Amino acid sequence: MSGKNRLLVVDDELMNRDMLSRRLERAGYAVDVAADAREALERLEDDQIELILLDSMMPGMSGVDLLRLLRGTYTQAELPIIMVTALSDSTRVVEALNLGANDYITKPIDFSVALARIQSQIARKRAEDSVRDSEQRYALAARGSTDGLWDWDLTTNRLFLSERWKQMLALADSDMGPDPAGWMARIHPADRPAFQNELDALRRPGGPAQFSGEYRLLHASGAYRWMLTRGFVLRDQEGNAVRMSGSQTDITTSRAFDSLTGLPNRVFFTDRLENAIARAAGGAAPYAVLFLDMDRFKVVNDSLGHQAGDRLLVELANRLLQAMESAAPALPSGAAYVIARLGGDEFAILVEGAGDAAVMRPLAERIEGAVREPFTLENRELFASISIGIALGAPEYSNAAEVLRDADTAMYRAKSLGRSRWAIFDSEMRAMAVARMEMESDLRHAIGRDELRLYYQPKVELGNNRVVGFEALLRWQHPTRGLIPPLQFIPLAEETGLIVPIGAWVIREACIMLRRWQKEFPFVPPLEMSVNLSVRQFWQNNLVGQVADALAETGLDPECLQLEVTESVFVQEPVAAASVLAELKGLGVGLKLDDFGTGYSSLSYLSQLPCDSLKIDKSFVNQMCTDISCSEIIRTVVQLANSLGKQVIAEGIETEAQAELLKSLGCGFGQGYLFSKPMAAEKATAYLKAIFDALPG
Ligand code: C2E
Ligand code: MG
Ligand code: MG
Repeated sequence: MSGKNRLLVVDDELMNRDMLSRRLERAGYAVDVAADAREALERLEDDQIELILLDSMMPGMSGVDLLRLLRGTYTQAELPIIMVTALSDSTRVVEALNLGANDYITKPIDFSVALARIQSQIARKRAEDSVRDSEQRYALAARGSTDGLWDWDLTTNRLFLSERWKQMLALADSDMGPDPAGWMARIHPADRPAFQNELDALRRPGGPAQFSGEYRLLHASGAYRWMLTRGFVLRDQEGNAVRMSGSQTDITTSRAFDSLTGLPNRVFFTDRLENAIARAAGGAAPYAVLFLDMDRFKVVNDSLGHQAGDRLLVELANRLLQAMESAAPALPSGAAYVIARLGGDEFAILVEGAGDAAVMRPLAERIEGAVREPFTLENRELFASISIGIALGAPEYSNAAEVLRDADTAMYRAKSLGRSRWAIFDSEMRAMAVARMEMESDLRHAIGRDELRLYYQPKVELGNNRVVGFEALLRWQHPTRGLIPPLQFIPLAEETGLIVPIGAWVIREACIMLRRWQKEFPFVPPLEMSVNLSVRQFWQNNLVGQVADALAETGLDPECLQLEVTESVFVQEPVAAASVLAELKGLGVGLKLDDFGTGYSSLSYLSQLPCDSLKIDKSFVNQMCTDISCSEIIRTVVQLANSLGKQVIAEGIETEAQAELLKSLGCGFGQGYLFSKPMAAEKATAYLKAIFDALPG
């Protein structure tokens, strides 16, 4: 198989990019993002991209232009591309399809539709690749027994359909003559334009030699069946298509099932859930959805490998089936259930005919119990657990997405209670979800409405208590809720991607303030400023650009700016992190490791990291006077850092005793309430002025 396994989301709007990539990641895909055509081309260079979701409207080179460009290249001519267009923009859709887009989805994006289209494009491409890789004619002949065969003589326009082909649709010989129009007429209207496009492309002189596609055909019963058709084109010497032949496979059921576990998939599940909702609206037909997510699955996957991860998912699927089977007798009579794999390590169970908490509680407990039994994988025992969120059918629900969303919310609640737990969605959770949404929408406007504030906490040289600089600490002056500390909104900003514009604002604001202070209070050496970076901020595309812009705009000496990052940045991708740090270093700014001692804190990291100072976390400082091991750790860290030429600063110093002890351990700098709490800009200015005015001369 090819090594391609990533999706590329190209969209100029950060929110769209983020929303899509987060959801795709949760559905188990690896996702790259690009904000414009140029970035997209860069991402495509590493040859990992299996499919592109391409926004048709982008400033500069539009998505349609990029599509045209890619289709004109040799290497990307067949890369699956799904266009993302505005609902109203049908001419653009047609244009894109004509240019060779494989499919399209409309904004606002219905995620389950997007997912289904992505899956089907990837499946199609893989099937196509494998047909190409194998001996094609042989493969067709060998499959002849289960597949239908067809052969179309383009010179006479007569179509031959095998017996099996007709059987698949329960058609009699008389139902289908040799006229290809009969075939066309049975194709689902929604699939017809794409099919026709494909045919036109094939018939074009010099067109492709093989093809494969999925589409629906009308069965004699009146239902549509999903078919996969694969074939090849014979051409004469001028390159004109003279004959096409191929096979047809009924994939209706496989489209509804997850290929790994064999369970129904999201498409099928959503369908059933929609039905359940509709029935519930028509009368008393209770239902409930259990949303299951494996705890720490990523750890298994990362440490034991994807194959082991896959096997664990299969085993888990079996456990769920067994657990439900043994629980079924306890369900109200007439109740039925469906277990599905939604993607990644997410599963869901729909129970129909029962919808109250009293039934769901023991069910959830039984499932969790079944999963807690050890799994055996490659002769080793492995313990797993799942968290379950339950949404009980309610009249408010009008579609599957709403029910799944609430079950998902409850699942997160269960996880936050500790793993291997379950929770039922309730009105309190709804209130919290609403509050969160409100906070999110408020936060979106915080920059524009000028509600963000920086507070400044002095950094002091411990030997002489001289102020050498400040750390900028963010606050949100909320119109109704007052001053909100960073820990109450930065996690949300991280999750939503808002941290990127907010972070850019912080960097710029801090540089402007520092430059002003440097001019007004020309201390020697000049004052410095520390700015915190969070994880998501660190991994955005344009961090280096943001910092460079802020420096250029303010004319600040780069050495006076320090960026604080935490260890979590390095743990996941140490190599990539080091390269971003090196780029930042290239700008001349200082780098500081924040909260040292709270995370993984491998001392061996220290010598490798291109950071020039580290900050001992306040939890150590807090305990150092009572806990001898804390002060010993600090002593070791200080010695090691000094020998590596790195500066050490201790944060959270609240007492004289702590300051004295730190000084005696060799720690050069400190920050904390002992010296000053973080101050608003005016107060910090007054604070500096008092110091400056007191200087001799
Ligand atoms: P941090 O970078 O470790 O910042 C130190 C925190 O300790 C600050 O909390 C500060 O007010 C507090 N602190 C300072 N001295 C003392 C002391 O003597 N005793 C005690 N108990 N606490 C002290 P704050 O301002 O609430 O910030 C919390 C965290 O939020 C920061 O931790 C930082 O990780 C994050 N943060 C703050 N501003 C920003 C920002 O602009 N961007 C990003 N990405 N994160 C920020
Ligand atoms: Mg900090
Ligand atoms: Mg800190």
